[in-house]
Amino acid sequence: MCRRNPIKITDVKVETIRIPMKKPFRIAFAVQDHSLNVLVKISTDEGLWGIGEAAPFEPVTGESAATVLEALKLFRTGLIGMDPLDIEGIHRMMDRLLSGNTSAKAAVDIALYDIKGKLMGQPLDKVLGGSVNQIVTDMTVGIDTPEAMAAEARERGEKDGFTILKIKAGINPIEDIQALTLIRQAVGPNIRLRVDANQGYTVSDAVRTLKAFEKLGVEAVEQCLPSWDLDGMRFVRSKVDLKVMLDESVHTPIDAAKACKIDAADIINIKLMKCGGLYPAEKINAIAEANHVQCMVGCMLETKVAIAAGVGLVAAKQNITEADCDSFMYAVDPEMGMPGGFAVNGGVYTLSDKPGLGIDIDF
Ligand code: MG
Repeated sequence: MCRRNPIKITDVKVETIRIPMKKPFRIAFAVQDHSLNVLVKISTDEGLWGIGEAAPFEPVTGESAATVLEALKLFRTGLIGMDPLDIEGIHRMMDRLLSGNTSAKAAVDIALYDIKGKLMGQPLDKVLGGSVNQIVTDMTVGIDTPEAMAAEARERGEKDGFTILKIKAGINPIEDIQALTLIRQAVGPNIRLRVDANQGYTVSDAVRTLKAFEKLGVEAVEQCLPSWDLDGMRFVRSKVDLKVMLDESVHTPIDAAKACKIDAADIINIKLMKCGGLYPAEKINAIAEANHVQCMVGCMLETKVAIAAGVGLVAAKQNITEADCDSFMYAVDPEMGMPGGFAVNGGVYTLSDKPGLGIDIDF
């Protein structure tokens, strides 16, 4: 059987972008008033190119824009001359050169899928095997006083049209319960609420606080314990009825397998920046699905480039039932000169039919 000559990667360009936030974004272990991300453009000898993005966040993956640039310099030497459709081979190459550095790997991976979509003439969700072109995302409310959080939650529901809110917590359990009580009063019974404690609770805090959240109709709590405490997560899960979600505990497919093996989660939050892109993300979802664990796709402070990749993944996979793909909307300029990808109406995104990510940028 004859195979046509593979196309080849001819160039890898990078661009650092600074993304100022509308207001400082506070979670249990960090405050961010801007994000420094890195865009990647991978060009091929057929004239096609793909765009990817790294949104490094030091407290979670240990990466900064500076380390991403160094990693990409190294990956560039391996990438030149490779077939961009050899996504397995390119991940192996990157993993051999550097362990971790998953945001840098995600940037390359996303650009490869953009190229693949352009070659197929199909949008990313179809490249990944899906047929649905709409998803529903939540909107995140950062940590503030309980009163300010309730006011913001009301605005996100009534004015902006979001039907699911993710409330950040994890600094003070008493204030978290106060905040959720005021938020439930402010938004009424029909808005779906989930909480992200970002590793902030002890096991005893968690059991007590999650039981209080249950009474307020909170449907899921994300990463209530430190990332290393999978046994604790299993224990907390056995004591509460709401869904327990893992985020910082699960970076890679292997982490997902370990968490599933000991029944430590109802939902896994997949982030492209934690796992290294769409290729490993599909593996995490497959492992979860085989263990009756659902997935959500979350995000770091990503622009529409990486968000479009995450959204395509959500649309493509039935087991990915939740989306937390809202970060670009915290930016002073959500569009950032990158039209396309998807159209936003409240929390409902309608995906572009354009090939690949469907985002119109070049550099
Ligand atoms: Mg989280």
